[in-house]
Amino acid sequence: MARKFFVGGNWKCNGTAEEVKKIVNTLNEAQVPSQDVVEVVVSPPYVFLPLVKSTLRSDFHVAAQNCWVKKGGAFTGEVSAEMLVNLDIPWVILGHSERRALLNETNEFVGDKVAYALAQGLSVIACVGETLEQREAGSTMDVVAAQTKAIAGIHAYLLVFITKLQRNGLLGIFFLHRTSFLLVMTDRVSNWSKVVIAYEPVWAIGTGKVASPAQAQEVHDELRKWLAKNVSADVAATTRIIYGGSVNGGNCKELGGQADVDGFLVGGASLKPEFIDIIKAAE
Ligand code: PEP
Repeated sequence: MARKFFVGGNWKCNGTAEEVKKIVNTLNEAQVPSQDVVEVVVSPPYVFLPLVKSTLRSDFHVAAQNCWVKKGGAFTGEVSAEMLVNLDIPWVILGHSERRALLNETNEFVGDKVAYALAQGLSVIACVGETLEQREAGSTMDVVAAQTKAIAGIHAYLLVFITKLQRNGLLGIFFLHRTSFLLVMTDRVSNWSKVVIAYEPVWAIGTGKVASPAQAQEVHDELRKWLAKNVSADVAATTRIIYGGSVNGGNCKELGGQADVDGFLVGGASLKPEFIDIIKAAE
């Protein structure tokens, strides 16, 4: 099954109501490929979600930039997955490197958020990526694999079956006579079609230092192989893996032309008219 190109715009903590209206107007007037060719999702700050949702063209969708790890309640300042569902917000970005670095979100915490958001019916853009130090130390794949493992919620259980006990008559002790072991691997993501993995090398985010198409392709290919080995061949073949990190109108075509790059998560350039050119890279 072909993977539909995906372009996400992460507006981060930017904009006034007036600026947001301007961006929405620009998007609404843009000539872009049809929904059959590209899925476009923009992610304004929470406070602008209702405004954007109610004024944005219907072929583009909206995402929140985060949500709480479990059911809402006494968690001051947080927004729950249930609230996003209630507002008909279909997508949420989770595990962005800025939250991992600045707010100390661990792999496990991000994995728990992904599981909870999916269970509430949200679709998730789940971010992974290595720092420059990790890349230079040669541990890129170890880092993104550990992050993806937490997102997938993979756990291993060793089941031990005792099928026969034997009694030693003299000693009066029972010995295990026949046992079998079964290693069961489970993942918490029941519907992978609701997950997009965003590979975003930290050193490329907001720095103007984009990964080369070969660097992006190498990690995407490894991630797909990881999914094949640890989840399933079908999930590996169908899950979209998008690239993020200093994508702009000039570099998007070549990056998007890589076999395993299924689109982009765009930060800075998603606030500018060149976001339209990035959407057009789907063609
Ligand atoms: C991002 O924050 O997800 C991102 C990719 O930012 P930028 O495009 O500005 O590097």
